[in-house]
Amino acid sequence: MGRRKLVVGNWKMNGLRAQLPEIAAIGELAGQHPAVEVGLCVPATLIEAASGVSGAAFIGGQDCHQKASGAHTGCVSAAMLKEAGAGWVIVGHSERRMDQGETDADIAAKALAARAEGLKVILCVGESLDVRDAGNAESVVSAQLLASLPEGAAADWLAIAYEPIWAIGTGRIPTMEAVETMHVALRAALATKIGAEADGMRILYGGSMNGENAAELMAIADVDGGLVGGASLTAGKFAPVIAAA
Ligand code: PEP
Repeated sequence: MGRRKLVVGNWKMNGLRAQLPEIAAIGELAGQHPAVEVGLCVPATLIEAASGVSGAAFIGGQDCHQKASGAHTGCVSAAMLKEAGAGWVIVGHSERRMDQGETDADIAAKALAARAEGLKVILCVGESLDVRDAGNAESVVSAQLLASLPEGAAADWLAIAYEPIWAIGTGRIPTMEAVETMHVALRAALATKIGAEADGMRILYGGSMNGENAAELMAIADVDGGLVGGASLTAGKFAPVIAAA
């Protein structure tokens, strides 16, 4: 146990240099909450400039290619993210699983590529509304997690984000009981593969987390922080989420 809370903003395809003062303000917030690890995953084009102003908040990327280099037009390698100033990277976000057709195997390979460059990784998993309504959410998401989990997964470089697809950007969240049940199930699934290491691995909740629901969500024993989209885009919205952690 003793898991330090991790709160990470996912800016998705948002952010130009005009937003650098906002990033600096979020960095200041991070400095005011040293017990919480705070970061922002920004578009690749903004990583270098963001790293220069983000203070106590780390900067991360939102995806990396599984290969180190080559003929992959438009893609970004882990080494490129690192050189630009990223310390972390998100892999397996549901938007990429859907829009880019990324498979569990791709995502495990991306995580390993990031690890090889010394990046820390947030691995996203989550169920569709159909799966939730069918009553299979825990088993489906646990299977997805185990299939996406990279070899050598360890708590000092990997965190999991449970993000129900139907909760992302919708303003809807699962019940607190459902979140708790899922996080307990995911930690148990992790333990089948990595044993006691699962106790130290942070499992974040993501999907419409905001200043109003963050405290209740993060009070759940197995919720170790949040992956936050819309509510991370300004320091004003992100502040209560960070404070809740
Ligand atoms: C996300 O996309 O990772 C996310 C959690 O988005 P939102 O907070 O906007 O639902």
